[in-house]
Amino acid sequence: MKSESLRVFTFPTIRSSISLRHCLMQSIKHIQMLREQLLAAGKKISYQSRVKDEPAYYCNDCDLEVYDLLLVTSENSTKKSYVVHCEDCARAKSPSLGGVVVLEQYRIEELTKIYDAFTLAPSPVSK
Ligand SMILES: [Zn+2]
Repeated sequence: MKSESLRVFTFPTIRSSISLRHCLMQSIKHIQMLREQLLAAGKKISYQSRVKDEPAYYCNDCDLEVYDLLLVTSENSTKKSYVVHCEDCARAKSPSLGGVVVLEQYRIEELTKIYDAFTLAPSPVSK
């Protein structure tokens, strides 16, 4: 049953910065976990920082937004075309992620900094 592996993400209504911070923390935790799993599996992670105005990446198979850790395969090695996958889709094709190149767009320190900046940002005070 393919539908069981399909996860539906609903974006929570953000009522306070606390829930947004929580979201951010969950994302960072998820990225850290995935990163450790990939390293433990012997994958090499190549750092490739984002360029200005670089568009967001979406999984080629399920359209899920892929953030920070891009699992990339080369569809055709003679033509230089690269295809981005989410973790689930990449594993569905190859559980050992054979032929998958992992690109990292932010370092964990950068993500943590973003989180800290958010935490420290004063809430707007209405006069
Ligand atoms: Zn996918």
